[in-house]
Amino acid sequence: MNKRLSLTTFTHNLLEKKLTEGDFVIDATVGNGHDTLFLANQVGRLGNVFGFDVQQQAISSTQLQLKQNQFENFCLFHASHSEMDIHIPKQQHGKIKLIMFNLGYLPGSDKTIITQANTTLIALKKSIVLLVSNGVLTVTAYPGHSGGDVETEQVKLWCAQLDPLLYTFEQIKSSEKITAPRLFIIKKKI
Ligand code: SAH
Repeated sequence: MNKRLSLTTFTHNLLEKKLTEGDFVIDATVGNGHDTLFLANQVGRLGNVFGFDVQQQAISSTQLQLKQNQFENFCLFHASHSEMDIHIPKQQHGKIKLIMFNLGYLPGSDKTIITQANTTLIALKKSIVLLVSNGVLTVTAYPGHSGGDVETEQVKLWCAQLDPLLYTFEQIKSSEKITAPRLFIIKKKI
């Protein structure tokens, strides 16, 4: 079984129930654009998807796919997600319904360009400020590649120290294997 794909499908199924037309959402790791297209479809004409990636290629190809599919409800930034607060319009701060991270490297691309624990943590801290109450943060992490193990552990520790009065946190593992991809789901209560 392709673990990356199955956890992605699981995440999409979960988010389909949480998102409604008109929502404002962020894809923090655009990559091949699968999540970006999924989100654009969910939030519809009245909503908007903000996307980030450090690879111009990822931004350009996703922009093309979105346009080919007649979407206009998006705004992509060739920038690190650790700078998301600078790029997201001020009037949207505290109003974002969902922020999605899919960590690691882009499948079928340059495997040396991977998300880094330090910038990921900066971005996560900024994310919870941008969320609306009842907003959701999802992080798919891959401990199976070099660097991904440390990053996954850091994300887990960060989730665990969140104030339980303000946030709920759960972790879903695609299998019990130590290297199995996992999904962290954080919900902002108030
Ligand atoms: N969601 C994507 C897969 C993402 S793979 C899909 O559906 O295809 C991880 C992506 O994160 C890669 O494209 C990589 O370029 C990007 N990335 C790495 N570091 C980043 C950073 N600091 N900010 C934003 N994107 C980053």
